Amino acid sequence: MIVMKFGGTSVESAAAIERAARIVKAHLERRPVVVVSAMGKTTNRLLAAATDAVHGRREQSLAALESLRDYHLRETQPVISEADWPEARRVIETHFQELVELVRGLAVLGELTPRSLDAIASYGERLSSQLVALAFRNFGMDTAHVDARCLILTDARHTQANPLFPETYARLAEAIPPLAAEKVVVLGGFIGATEKGVTTTLGRGGSDFTASIVGAGIGAEEIQIWTDVDGMLTCDPRILPGGHRVKIISFAEAAELAYFGAKVLHPSTVLPAVEKNIPVRILNSRRPEVEGTRIVAEPVRCDNVVKAIACKRGITVVNVRSTRMLMAYGFLRRIFEVFDRCETPVDMVSTSEVSVSLTIDNNARLEEICQELRGFSEVEVEENQAIVCLVGDNIRYTPGVAGRVFRAIEDINVRMISQGASLLNLSFVVAEPDLVRTVERLHAEFFSRLDPAVFD
Ligand code: ASP
Ligand code: MG
Repeated sequence: MIVMKFGGTSVESAAAIERAARIVKAHLERRPVVVVSAMGKTTNRLLAAATDAVHGRREQSLAALESLRDYHLRETQPVISEADWPEARRVIETHFQELVELVRGLAVLGELTPRSLDAIASYGERLSSQLVALAFRNFGMDTAHVDARCLILTDARHTQANPLFPETYARLAEAIPPLAAEKVVVLGGFIGATEKGVTTTLGRGGSDFTASIVGAGIGAEEIQIWTDVDGMLTCDPRILPGGHRVKIISFAEAAELAYFGAKVLHPSTVLPAVEKNIPVRILNSRRPEVEGTRIVAEPVRCDNVVKAIACKRGITVVNVRSTRMLMAYGFLRRIFEVFDRCETPVDMVSTSEVSVSLTIDNNARLEEICQELRGFSEVEVEENQAIVCLVGDNIRYTPGVAGRVFRAIEDINVRMISQGASLLNLSFVVAEPDLVRTVERLHAEFFSRLDPAVFD
């Protein structure tokens, strides 16, 4: 058995669903279990409709549902057979009727609880999984739709629920293999339910997590994550085109890259697969012939010291300085308490005795943060910065990497440096206008020769 997960863009339209069907069909002898995301941007649109409803924009919210319903009808009808269309239509109509009732209820209550957010958000995958199961039949596959909420058991931490692994694995191992022996099993990602049967979700992007849990639960040979890029690249194509595909990468490296904005995969989602030593592969549903990126549990032997360069734009550096704190304790605690109270995550930190630099990627509460910090220190803010992060298992074993990095960019002003505590990354901050130049130089420095076993 293999698990094949198709993300939102890979099922966003009739053409995309057809591509997915052909890909699955080509793997039938490996007994695929298919996990799908909500179609296109459905989850965002459902959550926006819920927010509109509770903020007195009831009509806007209902109109959004209407257009979302039309979208589902329009994009699935061309790929579902005439015989199955009445069933598909019934699925769409009943789900949208329920959604309209939910949204009306929210408008009256004027309150959005995590539990109702989950109830609403779950409809994207509930719809897509049933519709994809029907569409695949049209391409000559016998399919069985399974409601993920009957298998993925979670705690009640709504919008970010944690799977209860032993019970979930037991259910998956019992339910899926006999079905998959005969049919292509299709289930929705992202959703689960508590022991009491209340619908939960695993957090945004949670379908990858579902794929990984299902793979671990049924002991799959491989988990394939079908998305809209060729896999992980040596540099972010939005910053610098012409990067090379990384054919194989360790879990630890993939996780580092994901923290720094490589949007391909959220690291924690593949943990269940890694724990059971099941390889995960990232593949492009528009170019299925490309072999993608394999993520494996063990470090990968590689002649290049750096595997990839990740970056994150739109960073703000906050410099905090207090001479009063010389030789005193509690300075860092006070600083972090401010960020904690203002619910703003800190990405990177560097410290000296009396000053601390921190980076944040969300300025929503910057004013408030500065005001609080000024209560006990001098504060300086630099906006429009970017983090550049070099990742590679070899960084920890290879002397002179920092030397090569900073020689390559010796005329560029570096604001903050951190040799990650994980030892396999080296990160620093430059002004955003210098970002492209920085990545260009580093890419030339570290990827002018490529280990053919690792890079394409
Ligand atoms: N549909 C969910 C989201 O957009 C889950 C996923 O696509 O992975 O976050
Ligand atoms: Mg997604």
